[in-house]
Amino acid sequence: MARTSRLPGFYKVSVEERRALVGEATGADLTDIERSLEDGGLDATTADKFVENVVGTYALPYGVALNVRVNGHDYVVPMVVEEPSVVAAASNASKMIREGGGFIAETDPPLMVAQVQLTNVRDRREAMECVLAAKEELLALADGAVPGLVERGGGSRDIEVRLVGTEEDAMLVVHVLIDCRDAMGANLVNGAAERIAPRLAEITGGGIGLRILSNLCDRRCVRVHCHVPASALATDDMDGTAVIDGIVNASRFAELDPYRAATHNKGIMNGVDAVVIATGNDWRAVEAGAHAFAARSGRYAPLATWRRHAGDVLVGQVELPMSLGTVGGTLRVHPAARLSLRLLGVTNAQELATIAASVGLASNLAALRALATDGIQRGHMALHARSVAVAAGALGDEVERVATMIVEARDITLDAASKALTVLRTPRTSDRAVSRWELDE
Ligand code: NAD
Repeated sequence: MARTSRLPGFYKVSVEERRALVGEATGADLTDIERSLEDGGLDATTADKFVENVVGTYALPYGVALNVRVNGHDYVVPMVVEEPSVVAAASNASKMIREGGGFIAETDPPLMVAQVQLTNVRDRREAMECVLAAKEELLALADGAVPGLVERGGGSRDIEVRLVGTEEDAMLVVHVLIDCRDAMGANLVNGAAERIAPRLAEITGGGIGLRILSNLCDRRCVRVHCHVPASALATDDMDGTAVIDGIVNASRFAELDPYRAATHNKGIMNGVDAVVIATGNDWRAVEAGAHAFAARSGRYAPLATWRRHAGDVLVGQVELPMSLGTVGGTLRVHPAARLSLRLLGVTNAQELATIAASVGLASNLAALRALATDGIQRGHMALHARSVAVAAGALGDEVERVATMIVEARDITLDAASKALTVLRTPRTSDRAVSRWELDE
């Protein structure tokens, strides 16, 4: 557990210095940090054990979100993401949320759903009753497929039967709810589904269809809320209460319009996915679950909403399913993913879920605050300018200088960066500021 996640000036120091600061804040060994992140944390030989036809690895930036406090605990949160401004936004918004006491989070038990589809069931109503009558036998059968999980306090918990489709294509679907403890659970759940399917076919007189988990793991949700005082949200040009009104307006827009809700939720997933990837988890599973959950009412809706409360306080809340593991999958073998778990110091998968969802809520707040004030482009493009500078060929110190030049010139394009770089490398102009007029020449 981090002693503190407040590390002022962190962004100003070198990569090496940041590693030392993260080590100090989390108690992690500096050599461990350096070794685990070498080559993006994964060499080609290890990668060859993960997937097929490996010819190399593909690295992404590994940063840490600061200021994150969840249920009174401080975390330095690893984030793996290629998009500029995501880590900074999560850190800045977490700082504002911290002023209101931090994130308050709770989770459901780690229940996943195993689905068994049964086809051509003649008397579906009677079959449903027979399945429910055999519940104890079926739960025991499912448990037989996951003995290691049962030993650790997990295992199957309940059976549900659903009738889906119309009279012509109706099918019976049996759900087994399985407590996966600290595993994401897909393999465990799939094993249990396959184990009970033949018995279900016998009981119902139907044919065996699909046997697999559902990624709409709505029994495994995490809920986070936060209170942000108006004073923490104020900008140079806008007072805090006006910013609150702007954020609430943005929330209402997303609640009323699926076109806006999609982008609103993308902003949440900026934070969530970055934590999910950094901890070696399956982000496609989390994405699929989040969007299916967002559409559960039949209309696609925002996962997070914001309201103004008495005393000029902004209150935000997010709820989404979160199938994360701290064991299993590829976690065991990815050194950087293992490092992430060590830096976080989480003791179980539910704790990890509260952190990922909190960073999602922070990302959402940062985006809505920017939209309600300066617009998203100012901050975003300023950070994007560094990638543009690199793309134009800037090296070392040139990156920051070219980025500053194109931001000041309000022309954050590859073309402008190339011109700026040429100007910078020309002895005549390299020692003084370059104006927009010069870039235009
Ligand atoms: P897994 O197969 O590694 O199973 C987890 C293992 O960890 C089990 O053997 C379990 O007994 C053990 N374990 C040790 N300590 C535990 C604890 N405290 N709590 C729970 N289990 C503990 O992994 P998994 O989680 O079953 O499956 C995850 C993998 O499945 C991911 O790689 C995912 O990408 C993949 N997958 C996903 C989908 C999908 O989402 N649709 C489908 C198939 C596979």
